Amino acid sequence: MTVFGTNAVRIDLPVDEIPKYWYNIMPDLPEPCPPPLDPKTKAPAGPESLSKIFTKSLLAQEMSTERFIKIPEEIRSVYVNLSRPSPIIRAKRLEEYLKTPAEIYFKYEGISPLGSHKGNTAVAQAYYNMIDGTQRLVTETGAGQWGTALALSCSLFKMKCRVFMTRASHDQKPYRRMLMEMYGAEVFASPSKETTFGRKTLKERPDHPGSLGVAISEAIEVVLDDPLSKYSLGSVLNHVLLHQTIIGQEAKKQLDLIDRKPDYVIACVGGGSNFGGIAYPFIQDKLKGSLESEFIAVEPSAVPSFTKGTYAYDFGDTAGLTPLLPMYTVGHEFVSPPIHAGGLRYHGKAPSLSSLVKSKVVKAVSVNQCEVFEAGKTFCRLEGILPAPESAHALLVAMRVAEECRKKNEKKVILFNMSGHGLLDLGGYGEYLAGKLNDCPPGPIDFQGVMKCA
Ligand SMILES: *Cc1c(COP(=O)(O)O)cnc(C)c1O
Repeated sequence: MTVFGTNAVRIDLPVDEIPKYWYNIMPDLPEPCPPPLDPKTKAPAGPESLSKIFTKSLLAQEMSTERFIKIPEEIRSVYVNLSRPSPIIRAKRLEEYLKTPAEIYFKYEGISPLGSHKGNTAVAQAYYNMIDGTQRLVTETGAGQWGTALALSCSLFKMKCRVFMTRASHDQKPYRRMLMEMYGAEVFASPSKETTFGRKTLKERPDHPGSLGVAISEAIEVVLDDPLSKYSLGSVLNHVLLHQTIIGQEAKKQLDLIDRKPDYVIACVGGGSNFGGIAYPFIQDKLKGSLESEFIAVEPSAVPSFTKGTYAYDFGDTAGLTPLLPMYTVGHEFVSPPIHAGGLRYHGKAPSLSSLVKSKVVKAVSVNQCEVFEAGKTFCRLEGILPAPESAHALLVAMRVAEECRKKNEKKVILFNMSGHGLLDLGGYGEYLAGKLNDCPPGPIDFQGVMKCA
């Protein structure tokens, strides 16, 4: 353990404390999660109906009700390359700037060479596919972090990788594509001319900006046509959130070392994987009655699945090829406005997290892009790290909670997940600096906004 400075500004764990198990929240949910349904028959989808798309080891994890699943040493050793365990850093200067008595800590997943938390599951998914004999993984990516993570993971386990990247992100972030290609992946802007569904979508709307739903449909179409390929998803599904729980397990140990328990755990939500990753190990304690924390999931107001969507069975993709999942959704045909937080443009939310929001264990809030960028700018000037636009959603709400603590003079402990850095998202920040974002209110932005909870 290293705690640097009298104020514990940074807490590191030694490499051999990389968790040895993933935590599966499914057996602990207060209300059991309804099963996925077969897209054609609408009957509960068993492993057989999914095995064309996903490899069998991952399907077993997807359906598992075991609380702890052992992490193979081959995966733990790649976690070392991804700079695990990641540090917890105290945002001292941000606290001073906000004049808050609260302590603000963040788990910094951007320390990975991939720039985000996505490698935690990409490595596991590539590993099990390699074991099962898959020769190529096909996937979609929004902002590009997931595609980057899977591209490296395929390279490590000697498989091919093909990525359909939503066109809006593809055009906004050319360096992401180059990075994926450096790692050896083949990248197509989606909708593409590679698939029947892509061609159909382009015919209806030639300037289609793409959506994660469309890109997923393209990836699955390719997999259904090629028995040696499997599909891989970067969020939403149980096994993905499962793999991410190493974040929260590390965080629990790190806060224990300085004798702190979080009063608030905050993360942004695209599909729910970085939220589940940091929060589920703490939620386990809360459900057991040994921890009093609030859990806040932050979504963009442009994609308000929790705060304005409905809880229903919906497809994971636009074409309706995936099983129907029970989740909060704005509808599988939703095309998001091209906000810069590409990782948050997905129409649905993880079934396990949806169930926790429904049973009010987790609160959901939504925030505007403009305020998010202002928070990101403030943070990078005070703490030196430029947050990914996605992560800046969590940051903004952490700042608001700290502001409430100032007003009430409460010395709370706030933990948020800095899921990635924004060094490949500078185009979005550039537009913000140039005053080109269209959702900015007139006049200076402050952080006094009161949180509205769903
Ligand atoms: C993908 C991504 C997200 C959103 O996805 P989740 O599955 O909800 O975590 C958030 N932050 C970063 C940096 C991402 O890459």
